[in-house]
Amino acid sequence: MCFSGIGVGVLVREYGKLSNLDKFYFAFPGEVLMRMLKLIILPLIISSMITGVAALDSSVSGKIGLRAIIYYFCTTVIAVILGIVLVVIFKPGASQTAEEIERVGSTPEVTTVDTLLDLIRNMFPENLVQACFQQYKTKREKVDVTSDAEKNSSTSSEELVTIVMTAEVSENKTQEYKVVGMYSDGINVLGLIVFCLVFGVVIGKMGEKGQVLVDFFNALNEATMRIVQIIMWYMPVGILFLIAGKIIEVDDWEIFRKLGLYMATVLSGLAIHSIVILPLIYLIIVRKNPFRFAMGMAQALLTALMVSSSSATLPVTFRCAEEKNCVDKRITRFVLPVGATINMDGTALYEAVAAIFIAQLNDLELDIGQIITISVTATAASIGAAGVPQAGLVTMVIVLSAVGLPAEDVTLIIAVDWLLDRFRTMVNVLGDAFGAGVVEKLSKKELEQMDVASEVNIVNPF
Ligand code: ASP
Repeated sequence: MCFSGIGVGVLVREYGKLSNLDKFYFAFPGEVLMRMLKLIILPLIISSMITGVAALDSSVSGKIGLRAIIYYFCTTVIAVILGIVLVVIFKPGASQTAEEIERVGSTPEVTTVDTLLDLIRNMFPENLVQACFQQYKTKREKVDVTSDAEKNSSTSSEELVTIVMTAEVSENKTQEYKVVGMYSDGINVLGLIVFCLVFGVVIGKMGEKGQVLVDFFNALNEATMRIVQIIMWYMPVGILFLIAGKIIEVDDWEIFRKLGLYMATVLSGLAIHSIVILPLIYLIIVRKNPFRFAMGMAQALLTALMVSSSSATLPVTFRCAEEKNCVDKRITRFVLPVGATINMDGTALYEAVAAIFIAQLNDLELDIGQIITISVTATAASIGAAGVPQAGLVTMVIVLSAVGLPAEDVTLIIAVDWLLDRFRTMVNVLGDAFGAGVVEKLSKKELEQMDVASEVNIVNPF
């Protein structure tokens, strides 16, 4: 489907002579697929997390959670180190300067502290219903007006917090900023996960009283998975139009030549991580063929490549992990939604490469302290990035500002980000899937004990 999409895209581009409106209509079947996948995220995350956690004994869920977090952390750090080694060896930014690459678009100004505080705020949503469609975001806007009256008049009703501050931009030059806190569109997945985790543990511990809720969410989960099956039927058509629509839309191919070495560095890092490192970890721990496991995930990986979103791919990731690779549902329901939100090996690797690339463009020699800062912040930024298209580009600001690079320099790599985003999302999804396999293997003993306990309960419920 992917290749047919490319073929159709190239043909229509060459011979179609489509107007912008025609292009918009042409991409419509792909847009419908995206809408379907986004539609199912909410019931899927809620039902899978709650049933997953409620099915586990709380001491067991703690152990499984800890193993998952350790796996996520270690693989992310390895990805960052790999990215740094490659970008230092290839030096993609040394051959040109920032001036040679035109800046495209603009980026909202945020700082490391803003982003980290938003992450924590979003873990504790004020309103559960609102968390299903909005998340908290802080941004900074340059203010040009000087009078207090004008500053205040620009405050719109949706802005929750507005602070006007003055920051020194260079010697003798200051700039007024408005720090604005507001809700913006997008599911607050982190907040829902935290709530569902707690809710699942609580109803799991309530025994008979909580059983009706456990049964309800089990039925919801089953129904959601059946809807996922229906979406899968439409998937090939949607994917063909998604990719063809993108090929028709891009009009500046020259930028790919300019940023070629940078792209090659990111892509080779992603390839080494997904073909060598992750399979090796799986092989050492699980002692099964990692490539057969990866083949089982093929449909999810292809979906990630097409839709650039770990969250939107989640329904397919579930299906592949449970049905093709037979990973225990008690593990997948718990480990995959969390992984899709916080485990992003591809994003971490890309952030490290991009930050050092931008430093090279600016002729900045980084010392070891700065390189360590980049590793730490790239790891944090990948955890903070949501599983949605190009979220990594926004959290890049954390990494850039940590080593004193201008946040605006993100605009140097925006033009090729839509393409790199697809590949890093694929690696993010693969990392989550291998994680489920590894955690299942490490938790074999607990899962067997739970099986024995439930058999005993069936024979003698009292
Ligand atoms: N699109 C990526 C994902 O959903 C996040 C990012 O790196 O932008 O996993």
